[in-house]
Order: sequence, then C-alpha cells, then structure tokens
Amino acid sequence: MIEKQGLLIVISGPSGVGKDTVLRRLFELAPELRYSVSYTTRPKRPGEIDGQSYRFVTEPEFLDLIAKKEFLEWAKVYDHYYGTSRRQVEDALKRGEDIILKIDVQGAAFVKRRKPDGLFIFITPPSTDELLNRLTGRNTESPQALEVRQREALVELGLAKDYEHVVCNRHVDETAREILALIAAEHARRRAPV
Ligand code: 5GP
Repeated sequence: MIEKQGLLIVISGPSGVGKDTVLRRLFELAPELRYSVSYTTRPKRPGEIDGQSYRFVTEPEFLDLIAKKEFLEWAKVYDHYYGTSRRQVEDALKRGEDIILKIDVQGAAFVKRRKPDGLFIFITPPSTDELLNRLTGRNTESPQALEVRQREALVELGLAKDYEHVVCNRHVDETAREILALIAAEHARRRAPV
C-alpha cells in the first residue's frame, strides 16, 4: 500500500481579498485539512481566539522563539511579527495530513526555498477596485494602518505571478472548491506512476 504523504499548502493573497472567509468555507468542506496556527505579535481583533486564529505573543516572546529556531519561516508584516511553527507543520506532514499555511508573500518565498514540493496558491480579487473597497469596509484598522494595508495590498497583488496557482475569489464557495480541486489534483499527480 502506498502511504499518503501530507501536503504543505501555502495560501497567500493581498489583505482584504477574503482569505479568511475562503479558508472557513474550505474547512467546512474538508474538515480533515489542518491549519497552521501562526504566532503573531499583532493585537487580537474582536472575535479572534488565542490558539485558533493565531498564537498571540509579545515581541520578546517572539524573538525568543526565533532564537530557539521554532519557525519554519517568519516575517514582519505591517509592523508586526508573524511566524509559522516548524513543529506544527512537520508533525502534520509526518502524520500524512495536509496542512494549510496562510502566510504573506515574503514567508511563502522562504517556504518555497525550504519546501519546494509544497502547493503554492495565490488568491486574487475580481478587480483592484473591489479589493480597495473591501479593505475600507472592513473597519478593523486605524486610518494610517488602512493606508499602509492598501498600498501593500497593491504591491502584493503584483507578486501573484510567482505562484504556480492563482485563484480569483469571485464567489467564496467556488474559490474554496477550486482550491480543493487543486489539492486533489496534486495528490493524484504524486500518486501517478513515473
Ligand atoms: P492579518 O493581520 O490580517 O491576520 O494578516 C496580515 C498578513 O500576515 C496576511 O497577509 C497573512 O497572510 C500574513 N501572515 C499570517 N500569518 C503569517 C505567518 O506565520 N507568516 C507570514 N510570513 N505571514 C503571515
């Protein structure tokens, strides 16, 4: 019997593109998928749960985790640190589970160098206008932070070309199903005789 190998799935996309909503739908459709809960120093938003959305830590705690080589990758995004737990990812892959990392483009580029056999997916908005509107409507940031996110979102959008798969988020359910199809196709490709 061929053992199923866990797949590392990296999902990126500009702030406001709807990654969290798409991922929520994805986990409803495929509850067997695992989610890599990142560490972050950014303040908790209303409704976020420590240990589920993120592991919220202080800056000294984060720097200590870097020193202890706890991270598969880490980056400073919008003035806050974010990092992926190396142990969580490796344990899931070893168990044969597929694990999703929702990380920014810098982190994704780093993971790609370390784990080139991952599945790298970029989510784009139907249009730039829609992205900027969604960011403004979200109301989770101060005006200054919002401006930074808008500027960065446009820069990030230009990096979609570095990903092997680009999925346009027109409709959440369709986007989630498209991602599931990419995951299934990747497993099929790996199982195919060479
Ligand atoms: P937010 O603060 O809106 O939750 O996330 C801001 C950005 O940080 C998003 O682009 C998100 O994908 C990215 N991010 C979240 N966790 C990680 C991580 O562990 N590593 C990296 N490099 N980026 C992350």
